[in-house]
Amino acid sequence: METYAKALVYAIPFFTGLVLLEVLYGHFVKDQKHNVMDTVSSLSSGLTNIIKDSLGLVLVLVSYPVLLGVFSIFELKATWPVWILAFLAIDFAGYWNHRLNHHVNIFWNQHVIHHSSEEFNLACALRQSISNVVGYFALLLLPAAILGVPNEVIAILAPIHLFAQFWYHTQHIGKMGWLEYIIVTPSQHRVHHAINPEYIDKNLGQILCVWDRMFGTFQEELPTVPPRYGVLKPANTWNPILINFQHVWRLCKDAWRTTSWYDKLRIWFMPTGWRPQDVVKKYPVHGIDNVYHFKKYRPEASFALKVYAVFQLLFNTFLMLYMFYNYSEIGLAGLLQFGAFVFVGIYGYTTLMDKKGYAVGIEVFRGILGIALILGTGDWFGINGLWSFGSIMVSCYFIITILGGIYFTMKEDKESPDTTINRIP
Ligand SMILES: [Zn+2]
Ligand SMILES: [Zn+2]
Repeated sequence: METYAKALVYAIPFFTGLVLLEVLYGHFVKDQKHNVMDTVSSLSSGLTNIIKDSLGLVLVLVSYPVLLGVFSIFELKATWPVWILAFLAIDFAGYWNHRLNHHVNIFWNQHVIHHSSEEFNLACALRQSISNVVGYFALLLLPAAILGVPNEVIAILAPIHLFAQFWYHTQHIGKMGWLEYIIVTPSQHRVHHAINPEYIDKNLGQILCVWDRMFGTFQEELPTVPPRYGVLKPANTWNPILINFQHVWRLCKDAWRTTSWYDKLRIWFMPTGWRPQDVVKKYPVHGIDNVYHFKKYRPEASFALKVYAVFQLLFNTFLMLYMFYNYSEIGLAGLLQFGAFVFVGIYGYTTLMDKKGYAVGIEVFRGILGIALILGTGDWFGINGLWSFGSIMVSCYFIITILGGIYFTMKEDKESPDTTINRIP
């Protein structure tokens, strides 16, 4: 975990830098694909994911080394062909895992966050799950374990394989010639994130597109069908923590409300979107009917609120970098406490972005709690050891949080969150 945390200290600024580069590029070519609040929401989602992962908040059903110990027939050395074999095994497993996520109700819940943005840009790539609480991916690597692919090879390749899925979340790169036949490209992944009937649930590959071509899920981006992004049941919130549990909450309600015991049991494993007949009639859920005429979620926000949202994102990113930087010094109890602060922080400022009245309660509460912790311990998780003014700076941040929470709740019009803009057809 500590190595992972240290790697993140470099990975976060690297990915954030590339997102910024895309924003600047869009600005200069006058084709901006970012919306401030959406990008803040995406990057905040990335923060929640890495905090959750770095704290190891997952119940691992079975790990790769265990599978290897039980099932391996051969004892392979880490030679080049084995690296290639391992890469193919990870990508093949990734394809099926992704397909499972799209097609089964309970699995869709842990993937919906990745599709929840109604924009498509590099920041979307960072919308990653926190609701994947059970680790089962190693099971899909059984073929590699049987062949005896060493654990070190898998351990090194897995994060590289994940990071290599970042670059293709962009609208600034067109089709890529012969590469379209081998790897997943921006064009193919635009199709994947689109909700047009022609495109939905297509292109599930992660690095290689050959699996989609082999198993009938490939769809080319068509010049006549411009992709429309998002999910059929829109998230209608900038709060990434809420988005992670919206679908499972709907499933819980349906399972509770249906009178059929069979439906109560099977709803979790039915195809994504399936609902018991009786609750469909009694409690209809409205999704998007016409992908060319739905309204994007965009509550009115003043320029000041946008700047404030960016400030909150930056400060929470800074706090988290400090947490990773001092990972071992802070200790497990401290890390959990620290992680909770950043989580509540993200919950608070994204609720403020959503213009929900209760945001002020969260903001004042976490502000007071933060200041109380600093006054009580005389420090902020050892930050004074790094900079003598460290805890004063964090105190100032919490004071700004309290004042910002009150100011923006009073100042911004209380428009309903469904104040949205028309999508340009
Ligand atoms: Zn997907
Ligand atoms: Zn994606």
